Amino acid sequence: MSLATDKTLMWFRQDLRIYDNPALVSACLSSTVFPVYIYDRSHATDSALGGASQWWLQQSLLALNKALNHSLTVLSGEPLSQLLTLLAHTGATQVVWNRSYEPWQIQRDKHIKTHLKQAGYTVHSFNGSLLWEPWQILTKTGTVYKVFTPFYRKGCLTAPPPRLPLDAPKNPVYQAIAELNQGIDSLALLPKINWYHTIAQRWEPGEQAAQQHLAAFLEHTIQQYPQARNIPSLNGTSSLSPYLHFGELSIHQLWHAVLTHASSNSEDNANDCFLSELGWREFSHYLLYHFPDLPSQNFNKKFNDFAWCPADEKLRAWQRGQTGVPIIDAGMRELWQTGFMHNRVRMLVGSYLVKNLRLHWQHGAAWFWECLVDADLAANSASWQWVAGSGADAAPFFRIFNPVLQGEKFDPEGDYVRHYCPELQHLPNAFIHQPWAAPLSILSQAGITLGQTYPYPLVDLKLSRQHALEAYQAIKNKPSPEP
Ligand SMILES: Cc1cc2nc3c(=O)[nH]c(=O)nc-3n(C[C@H](O)[C@H](O)[C@H](O)COP(=O)(O)OP(=O)(O)OC[C@H]3O[C@@H](n4cnc5c(N)ncnc54)[C@H](O)[C@@H]3O)c2cc1C
Repeated sequence: MSLATDKTLMWFRQDLRIYDNPALVSACLSSTVFPVYIYDRSHATDSALGGASQWWLQQSLLALNKALNHSLTVLSGEPLSQLLTLLAHTGATQVVWNRSYEPWQIQRDKHIKTHLKQAGYTVHSFNGSLLWEPWQILTKTGTVYKVFTPFYRKGCLTAPPPRLPLDAPKNPVYQAIAELNQGIDSLALLPKINWYHTIAQRWEPGEQAAQQHLAAFLEHTIQQYPQARNIPSLNGTSSLSPYLHFGELSIHQLWHAVLTHASSNSEDNANDCFLSELGWREFSHYLLYHFPDLPSQNFNKKFNDFAWCPADEKLRAWQRGQTGVPIIDAGMRELWQTGFMHNRVRMLVGSYLVKNLRLHWQHGAAWFWECLVDADLAANSASWQWVAGSGADAAPFFRIFNPVLQGEKFDPEGDYVRHYCPELQHLPNAFIHQPWAAPLSILSQAGITLGQTYPYPLVDLKLSRQHALEAYQAIKNKPSPEP
């Protein structure tokens, strides 16, 4: 189908890339393309970007603008009225974009599409961020999957395979709309206090950096992925999540890069293991699409009656990495310092918050939202509900991680803990995951005074586990209404 028309607005959103960008490819069938980014403060409300994501977005927009030969027009405000202004000003007759799938975005985009069409403009939207459209994958009886394995194995892997990635447009004519361009700085995405300098040391946003990351991952890391992915002190995972979230790398590029790598490589197990993690990404988006309340409501309604504790100074201690449990504190400090946290540790700090501190999972989700560079409404909501036991296909509530045993298993030398909790660095391995159990002489040799240089444990792990199980018992036998 030819979408040829004179002038087109390409509305960039979570697809900040030139390669494998279906909307951009279609826009480039017209003679002139106006690339536009509109920072939407009006609709996002609770889903407005957190601080770390704002930093990432700022850097990504700079990279995208460079890749577009400085022709990106950046505005903030209500997208429909901004698009109408841009259309009137440029004389463009068409708007294209890649679809976004958060519930508020779906509502907004439907409204915009209808309105623009009624006003006589041509509008096309494309799939640039999911391997399978959420409405395509249904059980044989036409219902929605609620369990990951059948969703992925029976639903996704037997559906038509994901399309191949597209090339960058050839000889595009991009044009800035200088009179209306407010510029990236006008969005004021960076806070006045430079708390993000350690995040900036760790990450390089942008499409080019994403490709370099991907290449390095395929060359050095993926083969050991099944084992190394659980060890937080290793660089054992791809660290591609923020690039995927902002669309600097497309999921189709990643999927096919792994398949191509797989065909020249015998480690099928590693490739399959990695691809199934991309399946979890699909599953999160699928759940959010079919259950739009996922960020705010327990998927399993039994949990509406759970006896959560009120958020108090314990929440603050968790956020600051001052719980007195080393692997938890290391994770929370990694989050604050780098805008990221290793997946295994995300599960541990989540379990600790929800079960040992018995604080509502939404407190955890909100803090992650603020601090993560990969904060993603679908993955964050689904994962927090998974950890809490209230989600679809969730970890059972009674599976309460013991952070000491988990630390000993996945950080046996204490490397991860020592890196983020340097005040514990001289503690012998035998006590690195439970300093409270160390004899005073050992603590003193390591230069540690509990309560002064490192906190006493916020709660007793055994007792708090017991209380969590009792609270769960109280809701366990209630009939569970369908979500
Ligand atoms: C409490 C909690 C909150 C989380 N919040 C987020 C979030 O806001 N944004 C986010 O992208 N991920 C989130 N995750 C999932 C997972 O921790 C991250 O995707 C992963 O750590 C990113 O690192 P990576 O790119 O190195 O992952 P890899 O192991 O290299 O995996 C490759 C990709 O697969 C996807 N993926 C992997 N695991 C999951 C998962 N469990 N659910 C959904 N997608 C997955 C990601 O896109 C990831 O980039 C959360 C997990 C937990 C337990």
